[in-house]
Amino acid sequence: MVVAHSLGFPRIGKDRELKKALESYWKGELDEAGLQAVGRELRAAHWQLQAEAGLDLLPVGDFAWYDGVLAHSLMFGVIPERFRPASGKPGLDTLFAMARGVSKSCCGGGAQAQEMTKWFDTNYHYLVPEFTAEQQFELSWEQLFEEVDEALALGHRVKPVVIGPLTYLWLGKVRGGEAFDRLELLERLLPLYGQLFERLAGQGVEWVQIDEPILALDLPQAWKNAFERGYNLLQRAPLKKLVATYFGGLEDNLGLAAGLPVDGLHIDLVRAPEQFPLILDWLPAYKVLSLGVVNGRNVWACDLERTLALLREAHARLGERLWVAPSCSLLHSPVDLAREQHLDEELRSWLAFAVQKCEEVAVLKQALLQPDAAVVQAALDRSRRVQASRAASSRIHRPDVQARLQAIQPSDYRRASAFASRIEQQREQLKLPPFPTTTIGSFPQTAAIRLARQAYRQGKLSAGDYTEAMQTEIRHAVSIQEQLGLDVLVHGEAERNDMVEYFAEQLEGYAFTRFGWVQSYGSRCVKPAIIYGDLSRPAPMTVDWIRYAQQQTSKVMKGMLTGPVTMLMWSFPREDVSREVQARQLALAIRDEVCDLEAAGIRIVQIDEAAFREGLPLRRAQWQGYLDWAVNAFRLCSSGVGDRTQIHTHMCYSEFNDVIESIAAMDADVITIETSRSQMELLEAFRAFDYPNDIGPGVYDIHSPRVPDVGEMVALLEKAAERIPAERLWVNPDCGLKTRGWPETEAALVNMVAAARQLRGRLAGAAA
Ligand code: GLN
Ligand code: ZN
Repeated sequence: MVVAHSLGFPRIGKDRELKKALESYWKGELDEAGLQAVGRELRAAHWQLQAEAGLDLLPVGDFAWYDGVLAHSLMFGVIPERFRPASGKPGLDTLFAMARGVSKSCCGGGAQAQEMTKWFDTNYHYLVPEFTAEQQFELSWEQLFEEVDEALALGHRVKPVVIGPLTYLWLGKVRGGEAFDRLELLERLLPLYGQLFERLAGQGVEWVQIDEPILALDLPQAWKNAFERGYNLLQRAPLKKLVATYFGGLEDNLGLAAGLPVDGLHIDLVRAPEQFPLILDWLPAYKVLSLGVVNGRNVWACDLERTLALLREAHARLGERLWVAPSCSLLHSPVDLAREQHLDEELRSWLAFAVQKCEEVAVLKQALLQPDAAVVQAALDRSRRVQASRAASSRIHRPDVQARLQAIQPSDYRRASAFASRIEQQREQLKLPPFPTTTIGSFPQTAAIRLARQAYRQGKLSAGDYTEAMQTEIRHAVSIQEQLGLDVLVHGEAERNDMVEYFAEQLEGYAFTRFGWVQSYGSRCVKPAIIYGDLSRPAPMTVDWIRYAQQQTSKVMKGMLTGPVTMLMWSFPREDVSREVQARQLALAIRDEVCDLEAAGIRIVQIDEAAFREGLPLRRAQWQGYLDWAVNAFRLCSSGVGDRTQIHTHMCYSEFNDVIESIAAMDADVITIETSRSQMELLEAFRAFDYPNDIGPGVYDIHSPRVPDVGEMVALLEKAAERIPAERLWVNPDCGLKTRGWPETEAALVNMVAAARQLRGRLAGAAA
């Protein structure tokens, strides 16, 4: 039988129930039994939804308390020394300590959280496993087995999902002790998979899904060899194995992936359609081929007719060995479109969320087996109408925007003078001390702020009262920054729900959901806006707020914008035009805003490009193409101002070593970057490449409530000063402070300013 299945379902819940439960638990308002109950209800509801949608085989193991990779670390006993409970098995508090660096009962709260980084090229973050040379593995977490029983008891046919051994090792990092190759751990790790599979088989499981997305990356030869070796050893496990690949094409790993001694292979035909029918030449005749044809990472309804044509061909060749699925786990897609009744009908008809994607998969399968069924015909008719209405819609295709794009000149991508001359002029007018201190933009989003914004949105607070409330917040933020002695102030971003949505709401061509949340990390969810048409800025977006903030202080106020690449990366993009074109449309809109801020007397404008690096294609061969248009988009939005206006940019969670030249090519006067969690590791990039402009390497991690002391920050700055000349160093946190509380924020900033002063003192001492 052709099988309709999914690789994973969003775990957060339609109403972000998981987020709410986690946060109550962390606050001590919900006990562990209560938290477990929420998890159980969510899993049951999600299986039910998928079963009702018509899927045959449901994923188990896609639920996780904070992150799925972290769950694997617990399952394999990969628990760094500093989190290991003094006695007994690790518990939920061990897990949360590893994720957050603090916990109710473990380790005295003094241990630093594990590093967090992007899951491939998505906006989901996983916790990086930490390995040591002595690493031992042991099965030490029962969650997966319990959840399998739970699903079976509910009468579902299930397929546990695990991260494959090679991908798991690849995602980890060696920490502490001597450097060694983590691939050497494979032999030690594999027996755990053996045990895992034995136990699952014992529970009555027929198929297991083993995620090996690294097969879509450029892999070193040793890792390719390890795939063969590793899977040969797992061959005897008493259940059927489906190796899942996604986020890209297998390319040079195609033969390797197809030939692994397993029972099935999943490939992503949304990202890499060219893999079909090529794959058929490689796949052994006994294997199942799962085709990922419904995009798990975007919100557009599937073009059923086109997809069906492909599936028919596959079905003719594969028969019962064909499985149908979304391209990847639906973790990256919002939960249920049915809740978005406020969207107009036309727009809604263009979309599909996780639940609808499951339905699409099911109907595609049904269309293969019962092409004449009424439901199939109805779905195909509807899909045809949707495609036609999008192709012709004047809401999407705007001649004025397209004309402006045509009129861009090469000079629009260049500042008037080179950096060396600009920075002189800027220094003269800004008169900042050495090691200037600043923050990344946002200050704590307190309950009061969120309530005011909500009341305003619901019409319970008038525009005037809302403006006044936000102005009060601005005055508060300004006065605290003045007291702290910061040099370049910010207005605090109280009026912004989200750094992308705030701008998107003021642009034409964007649409918004009410419940379209997607997990970003832990309990943090984002609600990406949807780019559905050509983009333009009808009016200034931030000028009134920033001007007001500047009026409250004689210090320099930095205007705060989100850059075109980040706007694009953190939105659901169109699929009918290239990302490059969408970035250029965004760049023109932001350019107008930058110029308006300058005209309003703002002397520093920060254009955040937090997502710049995550836009990098997974395969190196595609990097340059991306970097070219991404850098150009930034230059286009930032080059409309005079030399004396200082352009900052900010990036977080980034490893720049590979792209440092492009970062330099963006030609921002100052860049602030994430570094503290990785102990300034990032600055390695600056050894080989002489980054020419000013830099603020983050000196403390804002993702944790921990307050670092002065010495710690001084040490990090000293480390930075080994690479970057003191006169080009700025002092700032890692990222915005919106998720923090005021007390820890103030405490940390007091220390940060003190650290900057110490360095200034030393500099003055050295000069004397
Ligand atoms: N200016 C934004 C803030 O401070 C930047 C956030 C980010 O880089 N993710 O919140
Ligand atoms: Zn950031």
